[in-house]
Amino acid sequence: MRIAALRGVKNFVIESQPIPKLGSNEVLVRVKACGVCTSDTYTWSGKIEVTDFPRYIGHEPSGVVERIGECVTSVNVNDHVTVWTEGGGYAEYVKVPEDYVVKIPKELRFEEALGEPIACMVNGVRRSRIKLGDTVVVIGCGFMGSLFIQGTVLRGASKIVAIDLLDERLELARKLGADITINSGEEDAVKMVMEITGGKGADVVVEATGEQRPLDIATEVVKIRGTLVVFGYHVGGRRSVDMASWNWKGLDIVSAHERDPKIYVEGMRAGIALLSKGRLKMNGLITHLYPLDQINDAFMDATEHRPRGFMKAVITP
Ligand SMILES: [Zn+2]
Repeated sequence: MRIAALRGVKNFVIESQPIPKLGSNEVLVRVKACGVCTSDTYTWSGKIEVTDFPRYIGHEPSGVVERIGECVTSVNVNDHVTVWTEGGGYAEYVKVPEDYVVKIPKELRFEEALGEPIACMVNGVRRSRIKLGDTVVVIGCGFMGSLFIQGTVLRGASKIVAIDLLDERLELARKLGADITINSGEEDAVKMVMEITGGKGADVVVEATGEQRPLDIATEVVKIRGTLVVFGYHVGGRRSVDMASWNWKGLDIVSAHERDPKIYVEGMRAGIALLSKGRLKMNGLITHLYPLDQINDAFMDATEHRPRGFMKAVITP
């Protein structure tokens, strides 16, 4: 089978490897789609330092069950599935334990039914403490922020404010359920949120960028006793926080990430159920598809090139 090996900074090489042998509780999946996650681009670009090349990354695969181990009972050959895996998703095949496999209905497209990022959103929203009727600010309307806005709608927020630097993303945020959008490059986001909330601040503020400045905005626009949700992936060391404000406002701070595979898989099931009911939509979110041998182009587009309208790259081996 063909698999993308990260052999150095910004350098994937397509290798040929034997198809993995299966243990009795394992499932072999023919990968049809694997999302390019921002965390993968950090590994690729050297933002996360890697010393042990080659690395086989890619943790957002979906595909078709090719073979099952003799003790596997919950899935069958030819089932459409998405899986939880730590890596190896940029390949023709990936093998995973049966427990990490979630079936997807055949009418869903593989490039939309990416279990891992969907689960990340579901679990983040579940931890966010958003209550019926809340005013929620989401800062960062990239792929994950866009998913989170939909989760916020489902959770019953009465007012959703979306903040980003790109108008095209804010336009999409509106379609997905944001009531008010703010381009923080052109407008004073803090002042606007305070006006919208009558000087009080928002009940819940979600930082979905992994950057310092949005974290500061979040601190300023969350209300006293409000909840600040860190949903962005912060990499490369430390951030500074305005502890005096956190302290004085008596904030609840939620780092809304999950690492437990079981919780991930549970989030996947919930997310795929929402997707199949049409309550979660991927329209406009999956913008760029690449065959496996163009994986370096996919990563260039996801980082340096950023073509107009870019939201999410997916590798289709
Ligand atoms: Zn991911």
